[in-house]
This record gives sequence, structure tokens and C-alpha cells, in this order.
Amino acid sequence: MADDTLATLNWLVEAGADEAIADQPVNRLVAKAAVAPMPAAVPRPTVPAPTPSVAPPTSDAIGGAMATAAAATSLAELQAALEAFDGCALKHSATNTVFADGVAHAPVMLIGEAPGRDEDRVGKPFVGRAGQLLDKMLASIGLDRKVNAYITNVINWRPPDNRDPSPDEAAACLPFLRRHIELANPQIIILLGAVAARHVVGVSDGIMKLRGRWMEYRVGDRMVPLMPTLHPAYLLRQPAHKRLAWRDLQAVRDRLEALAGTRDAV
Ligand code: URA
Repeated sequence: MADDTLATLNWLVEAGADEAIADQPVNRLVAKAAVAPMPAAVPRPTVPAPTPSVAPPTSDAIGGAMATAAAATSLAELQAALEAFDGCALKHSATNTVFADGVAHAPVMLIGEAPGRDEDRVGKPFVGRAGQLLDKMLASIGLDRKVNAYITNVINWRPPDNRDPSPDEAAACLPFLRRHIELANPQIIILLGAVAARHVVGVSDGIMKLRGRWMEYRVGDRMVPLMPTLHPAYLLRQPAHKRLAWRDLQAVRDRLEALAGTRDAV
């Protein structure tokens, strides 16, 4: 391979274009030419510019997300609404909308950060290496996404190069997540990592401080126990911290058993 081709490929990988998704290249710039922003050298217009179809999230987009999400009365409707939603710019660089995996209405709902490369390709959350570790973590307390666990993310489209989602991107997705939690109606929520904790419970403390401590999340008139723990991708990098996650998961298992005991006693 010529040096310049290799350099171009390296650059593309660094920019997040690290996978061929079709046999033929698609020049998305041509498709977007009609809505391209004005060149920097042109002075700012004094009248409002037309809204481009690939708009950054605005309060309109967020309001639209809230209205659309609130109108969904089932998980299937919510997924369809999310797939039709155009208010999050990440959607335009993603291959798939990643909604959820696992058993709808399972007792445990897990919420991660955002799809990575594998999830974007497959269209399901946690299917890559972190997902494989997550499955083992779940199995250690008798949970299985095919049986009794339900998994989603705060963000439904892959951020390029797996960067952290921006506040605007998160704001466009959050109304869907909140409705998602209401409709799934879990008995326990597990938050995976600091980004999920920040967006779902609105705390910006480090995950090391938050993990292992029960919190509550309101769903309708019910307070759902919520456990923040370490993200499996972090545990792949810091395997010595698996013991901390293991402690958190044991607390989840104990709480589930207690909840089942309460139900049996009724
Ligand atoms: N990391 C996440 O937070 N979510 C996924 O779906 C995959 C990796």
C-alpha cells in the first residue's frame, strides 16, 4: 500500500472512521452540500439563517424529543419514535440507532454510556468486549440479558471516535431515556460508569465516589433503587477494580432477593 494511502487510512481511523460499512464509498459531503454552513469568511447574516436539516440540538429539538418520547405508550413505539427522531447530530454519522437489548420489563435495567464501534455496527448495546465482560458480570449474580436483564445507553448513536457525548447530544437523547425507564419499569437500575451517572441522576462526582451506594430514581409515583458501578470498559483497563464492581453486584443481588422475598410474602 502506498505511503499516502496508509497515512490517509491512519487519519481516518483516528477521526473515528475505523470501519468499512459498505462496498462502495458514499460522499456524504455531496448529500449535505445543500445544507452546508456558510464559509467562515462570510460575515454573519443579520437575518436568521435557514435551519439546516442536520441541525445541532436546539431547545426546539429537545422540546421535540420530549414531546415525541412522552407520546410513546410502549417500548416498541418509543423505539420507532427514536428511529424517526432527527434532533441529535450523532445520528448522521452513525450506522444504526442503538435502542436496547435483553428482556423488556426485566427486573434489572442497565444503563451504559453510548454505543461503540461494534454496537453501532450491530445495532445493539454492549456487544463488543465490554459487553462480553458485562455478560460475565451479570452471570455472576444470576442475571442474563436473554432471561432477566434489559440493557440500554444514555446515548443512542455512536459518538465519532468514541469521544464523550457533548451536553447537547445528551440533552437530545435524555427525554427518550427517561421515557425508556418509565416504560421498562424495572425493579432495580444499574448505572454503568460516570457518564451514565452524570446524566441519569445529575451528579458529577467521580464514579469511584458514587459506586456502591444506593440511590433512588423516581418512576411515576415509585422510587426505583439505583446502583452506580464501574463501567466494564474501565474494568478491562483496570482489572484490579473488578473486585469493587463485584461488591456492587452482590449488593444488587441481595436487594433483588429482598424484593422477591417481599413479593412472596404478600
Ligand atoms: N459502552 C457503553 O457504554 N455502551 C455500549 O453499548 C458499549 C460500550
